[in-house]
Amino acid sequence: MSLAQPTRVRFAPSPTGYLHVGSARTALFNWLYARSVGGTMVLRIEDTDESRNRPELTQAIFEYLEWLGIHYDEGPYYQSERRDRHRDAVQRLLDDGRAYLCDADDNELAGTEMADGRAVRFRTPEGTTVIDDVVRREVAVDHAQLGDFVIWRSDGSPTFVLANAVDDADMAITHAIRGEDLLSSTPRAVLVAEALGATPPIYAHLPLLVNEQRKKLSKRRDDVSLESYRRRGFLASAMANYLALLGWGPRDGVEIRPMAEIIGQFRLEDVNRAPAFFDIAKLEHFNGVYIRELDTEQLLVAIEPHLTGNEVPWPPERYRPDVVAAVVPLVQEKLRTLDGIVPQVDWLLCPEVPMDESSWDKAVVRGKASVEILDGTIAALVDCPWDPETVKDAVFAVGEAHGVNRSKSQAPVRVAVTGRSVGPPLFEPMVHHLTREEVLRRLRNARSRL
Ligand code: GLU
Repeated sequence: MSLAQPTRVRFAPSPTGYLHVGSARTALFNWLYARSVGGTMVLRIEDTDESRNRPELTQAIFEYLEWLGIHYDEGPYYQSERRDRHRDAVQRLLDDGRAYLCDADDNELAGTEMADGRAVRFRTPEGTTVIDDVVRREVAVDHAQLGDFVIWRSDGSPTFVLANAVDDADMAITHAIRGEDLLSSTPRAVLVAEALGATPPIYAHLPLLVNEQRKKLSKRRDDVSLESYRRRGFLASAMANYLALLGWGPRDGVEIRPMAEIIGQFRLEDVNRAPAFFDIAKLEHFNGVYIRELDTEQLLVAIEPHLTGNEVPWPPERYRPDVVAAVVPLVQEKLRTLDGIVPQVDWLLCPEVPMDESSWDKAVVRGKASVEILDGTIAALVDCPWDPETVKDAVFAVGEAHGVNRSKSQAPVRVAVTGRSVGPPLFEPMVHHLTREEVLRRLRNARSRL
């Protein structure tokens, strides 16, 4: 490939499942590389496996690329629409003696397509293919390991390697940046490209993503779908920033930073080959940082879908944006995910709050003087002025009378009213958004459990 050739990369997902964090990382690295060198990013949907493709999976790919801010420049191309090109390429290989018809393919299927419904195998020459992978360095494969492999099935469909190599050549792809799981197919793609007179792309195989046990992330074992992270309230900005660090790091070591800076720092040759740990705690930390950077308005907008979906514990008619707007600034510092807002506000929106038994046990059953504090608080709140300062002072005074410090005297009241021992500052929201009757009712309920 001549140096003057413009850089062209592609993200080439097979729409056989929902976009997972591994594919998203691949898409992102392609995009980062394209942006960092002023190249072009192509989107190619590799939808040749008709039995497994579903249109909604392709839609989800578009949706999640958009969500992450990965804007490709060209495409989408659909591999399934390029069957004629693939057939022509196979015919050329047959004509040139680089491939031959055979009776059985790997699936032993009978069909009616190429020639008389027979499969086609690539005639692998003797020798060795050396791939100079940007990440893995030199990978040498003895052709004896490859054998004569199928490039066209007897049911009339191209194999993955054939379609992939032909499309990369036709689309003038200069760099194929993709997951390490595809490394074993690369020598075959290189042989096919060269036999067609094309220059194969430069390959960069990104390291595996692994979980805490250093096992390859798997759909069955691990939470890998982008959809689930989005649903739990990870911000796209935090997610994209985190994904960029899976197998790569900036030379200056600054990890949390705007995407424009990441583009400026990104070097494909700095991608490392060691498996990358998908660390959910670190992702949550990133998300917390990005949540804190939002102003209240932005945060309220981001949070809204997490309070109005059908998984929330309160009936829709009880949702009150004013209550949420009052609580959000009080808890913004602590939020790690957007759906973390639900347990901060549910006690203000639900008619009944379920009691967290371990909070109950800790703060009430085993809490110092909790019976006296609940009794004293009930008595005090019956007719005191209903404002946060007065109510707070009343609770603390009851505690003091029984030798209990402020935070400990607040604890049984909090558990009685909110159902939990942790939550936002108690008195302001409680007095502003619950009625005196409601608070007394909850306190009496709690008292009657003892
Ligand atoms: N379609 C392949 C996959 O989703 C990727 C092909 C490639 O990137 O070369 O696994």
